[in-house]
Amino acid sequence: MPFLPFLARVRASRRISPNFQRVTLSGLADMGPAGPIRDLRIKLIIPGPEPLTGFAGAADWFATWRGLDPRVRGDMRTYSIRARRGDEVDIDFALHPGANPGPASAWAASCQPGDTLWLIGPTADDSTGAGIEFRPGNSERALLFGDETALPAIARILDEWPTGLAGHAFFEVPSAADAEAQSRDIALPDRVKLTWLVRENAPRGSLLTDALRQSAAAGSGKTAEQKAETEEKTTGADRPADAREDRSATDSDGGATLVWETPQFSASGEALPPAGPALRDYYWIAGESGAVTSMRRYLVKECGIDRRQVSFMGYWRLGRAGS
Ligand SMILES: Cc1cc2nc3c(=O)[nH]c(=O)nc-3n(C[C@H](O)[C@H](O)[C@H](O)COP(=O)(O)OP(=O)(O)OC[C@H]3O[C@@H](n4cnc5c(N)ncnc54)[C@H](O)[C@@H]3O)c2cc1C
Repeated sequence: MPFLPFLARVRASRRISPNFQRVTLSGLADMGPAGPIRDLRIKLIIPGPEPLTGFAGAADWFATWRGLDPRVRGDMRTYSIRARRGDEVDIDFALHPGANPGPASAWAASCQPGDTLWLIGPTADDSTGAGIEFRPGNSERALLFGDETALPAIARILDEWPTGLAGHAFFEVPSAADAEAQSRDIALPDRVKLTWLVRENAPRGSLLTDALRQSAAAGSGKTAEQKAETEEKTTGADRPADAREDRSATDSDGGATLVWETPQFSASGEALPPAGPALRDYYWIAGESGAVTSMRRYLVKECGIDRRQVSFMGYWRLGRAGS
């Protein structure tokens, strides 16, 4: 059983930039994985009014949790591990205050040292790689695109970057101050470039989408304008496939409706591609599900990028609570 509940205790919590709260959780000496973390996803059970009991090490934790009264069981959300030291992990929460901040964002902004919560993560001996999607294989170059919710996963991937792999990471963040603070915290491997896209008042995901188009056009030797012409010619014929893509899909953890298409898993039920020869570029794209869906459409439908080259992951969906 690779994933089990661990009772974690808040050791520290601090605002690292205007829109990010770093929460350090301790008590996780028995948590794995026994290998790289990369973009490993873990679950947090954001506490409800009552502490949850009878959870420690329970293999049937999900059924137990689902069986609890919704008023006391709290809320489950998915996060990445930004850093790990001994029995501690850092989780970076993208805060989204406003009319509907969500339980995880609100908890992160107000938690205090000593507070506890359940973290569902891999056991110490887990070397299966479950919950890790960054798999560039034998590609020559990895291109990563993420909004603020995917920044912690990408930063961790950069910390554990495969030797010899070239890369370029694009981050769309809410403000210049976030970019400045986060860039001080990221160690850039050799042969990897970093581009900060400061959203300010631009539509969510639009800067990432533009950067993806520029990058894909550069890789194919065509200009973005030439690509746009190809799009004009192909979008009509591709409409039924696009419609299939836009259909809501269940994520790989059986939770909310999010796009999740990787070489190993298809939430929409597409046939998985057979293994083939090494490909030059590998794309890893995560963020708001609608933006990720349109980036997927562009790369797969308009550019004809091989499905073995891409991992598209909706990390959250505008207007919809996570799980
Ligand atoms: C594999 C994976 C890894 C993830 N890693 C991280 C991580 O390391 N750090 C991180 O911050 N997030 C991460 N996320 C995203 C996070 O799970 C969601 O943002 C989650 O919805 C936040 O929960 P909440 O309780 O704050 O808000 P919810 O209750 O889920 O949502 C309430 C409202 O807020 C909106 N909302 C949710 N998130 C945001 C946001 N970031 N900005 C603006 N509006 C939002 C929703 O659309 C909804 O309308 C990850 C998601 C996945 C699937």
